[in-house]
Amino acid sequence: MRVDKLQGVGAKRAHSLYAAGISTVVDLLNYFPRDYDDRSEIKTVAELTLDAVNTIRGVVASDPESATLPRKGSPALNITKVLMKDRTGTLEIVWYNQPYLKKYFKKRGEYIFTGKVRGMYGGRVQMLSPEYEPCGETELSHARIVPVYTPPKQFSQKTFRALMHQALTEAEHYSRVGHPFVDYLPAAIREKYNLCNRETAIRNIHFPESDLFFLQARRRLVFEELFFMQSALFQMKSVTRAQAGLLVKNLDYTPFLRELPFSPTNAQTQVLVEIARDMSAGERMNRLIQGDVGSGKTMVAMAAAFLVMKSGYQVALMVPTEVLANQHFAECEKYFTELGFETVMLTGSLGAKARREALEKISDGRAAMVVGTHALIQDKVEYAALGLVITDEQHRFGVNQRWTLTQKATTLSVNGDCSNTGDIEAIICCPPTLAPANPHTLVMTATPIPRTLGLILYGDLDISIINELPPGRQTIKTYSVNSGYQQRVHAFIRKEVEQGRQAYVICPAIEAPEELEMDDIPQKNKTEMQNVLDYTQKLKMALPDLKISHLHGKMKPVEKQEIMTAFKAGEINVLVSTTVIEVGVHVANATLMIIENADRFGLSQLHQLRGRVGRGTYESYCILITDTKNDETKARMKAMCDTTDGFKLAELDLKLRGAGDFFGTRQHGLPSFTIANLYRDMDVLKDVQTAVADDLPLSDEESAKLKMRIAQVLSDTHGGVM
Ligand code: ADP
Ligand code: MG
Repeated sequence: MRVDKLQGVGAKRAHSLYAAGISTVVDLLNYFPRDYDDRSEIKTVAELTLDAVNTIRGVVASDPESATLPRKGSPALNITKVLMKDRTGTLEIVWYNQPYLKKYFKKRGEYIFTGKVRGMYGGRVQMLSPEYEPCGETELSHARIVPVYTPPKQFSQKTFRALMHQALTEAEHYSRVGHPFVDYLPAAIREKYNLCNRETAIRNIHFPESDLFFLQARRRLVFEELFFMQSALFQMKSVTRAQAGLLVKNLDYTPFLRELPFSPTNAQTQVLVEIARDMSAGERMNRLIQGDVGSGKTMVAMAAAFLVMKSGYQVALMVPTEVLANQHFAECEKYFTELGFETVMLTGSLGAKARREALEKISDGRAAMVVGTHALIQDKVEYAALGLVITDEQHRFGVNQRWTLTQKATTLSVNGDCSNTGDIEAIICCPPTLAPANPHTLVMTATPIPRTLGLILYGDLDISIINELPPGRQTIKTYSVNSGYQQRVHAFIRKEVEQGRQAYVICPAIEAPEELEMDDIPQKNKTEMQNVLDYTQKLKMALPDLKISHLHGKMKPVEKQEIMTAFKAGEINVLVSTTVIEVGVHVANATLMIIENADRFGLSQLHQLRGRVGRGTYESYCILITDTKNDETKARMKAMCDTTDGFKLAELDLKLRGAGDFFGTRQHGLPSFTIANLYRDMDVLKDVQTAVADDLPLSDEESAKLKMRIAQVLSDTHGGVM
């Protein structure tokens, strides 16, 4: 049933619903509340709590009054007042600029109100602009746990709530395909994991009968969402696995390894073996390499690239920032030119001529290695023979992008039926023989992730772990201090620079916020937030003889590149920057990392930032500066000082903040969920993963439904925004 068939939905409201992605009753019922108000406790006038929201029931004692007061210099103000009585006393209720209410309330009528109560005004307790409803009607907005939505335009909380209620009533009357309560979860799973049926869940997620019902409803819906997502990821994995991949026959890494100034660690060698096995198995490789900062992932990726190039195919390496693209480009050029392979770079900031040239080399096959940012997956890029796609710093990319890239890779290299539809369902139905040379994919991330989360973030991939750092690494000495130590921090910078080393200072902001915005920040967060531009000026004054520069995301790519090159060449002593340098940047001579307002960053991010130093043989330091004294911040700072193990920090972050800050402000390529919240629902996620692994026996009908639902999830995931 379409939403415009519901009462009270005219053309305007229908459009606003469509705009919110709601066109059927089913869509509407799947639009969940963002919060709830517990208004189940009804008070009497005598029991009201001042300066708080109260719900009260009573009789209108006299005809409502309404008056419009002229005001100098501003529009007139209308005040409507209702006097309400119960057996304990009288309450005055006031609304501003809603004169029509005078006609709405009837003397001796019984109503229910929820609103903020304030102290004595003209001898009476007052309730201000409450929500209201006549007693005895459905009582949707009061005397219960009330849903709070993000209502689409043209709706208030109240009208949207009423619409939802209407939809639930309507839903009882029809049962066709698209019935809102079709349960895609197999009964055996529901039973084993103690989940209520879908109808109960949907009813109680909107209008909970009690706390307990609400919790059951939510658990059921979270379970369902995570279950289908997890199943979908595993499905993707088996699909990729079932596809034929480029068969690499010569698995000899030696010529490449000979070029390197070091030999690989055991962990690196192990991963190289896994990659060689994947690429020679005839299947399509889809592997994630997780390795702590500085564990040497680049070298592993380049070795894999070498095998593929030697087989006559091209390799694309995609990174999230231009700074990183430049760095990898230089590295690849250095080693691959010697070995007879040409590397080109493709980023958004390339000039027209350079871009054309690069595109030509990519399409005629002269370029064996292509390094770049998102520009790599734009439609205009045509590869002669793409054999491997590598994505670095995977946590910056989402499932969608990962999929688009694999997909793009397929279209670029195969002419099979299914390849250019961009549609997973087509791929599922497509016999693997149609895709003779699908490129392999390799993704790398420096964000260690506990296994449970790893499965829902990267369930479509096989995982390799580099759990060892190259020999001779110094542990980075980490200290946490408050801003009172500034002088000493400056002295420390000077000392390191005098010994020929370099330093980074990280600030959370680029420039000082406008005054107005400052006022918006709640009082407790008002500790001064350092910004790159002001900080650089201050530092130049404090250390006038040092060469100090700055870097941030709003600078032009060329400028950023110049600064990074100069810093690498040692022409800059101190680099003040935002977190743009967080991912992957490598300067072995840098030994000091200072992080201002360290409390503003998640543990994983702090760990990433710290990983920018200690990359050479010199003793290195990380100084965390924060004036925040709450226990959680203290615990995080302590964890940073106590350990340099990224996996341990990730676990701890999960414990301390319940994954909240673990993901930081930036999503780790997290699929977007309607109701599940990985920060809160870790327990459900664990159950889901057991359930997926259980492989409980299903009836034909159940497995057909399950398949259908998974296919839906997959097409939603891929159709989503990039
Ligand atoms: P990440 O895993 O953080 O991407 P990189 O690949 O940037 O780390 O490697 C960090 C540094 O370690 C680089 O300078 C790289 O040349 C060096 N490196 C990598 N592997 C080894 C090794 N086996 N022995 C010594 N140094 C290595
Ligand atoms: Mg790296």
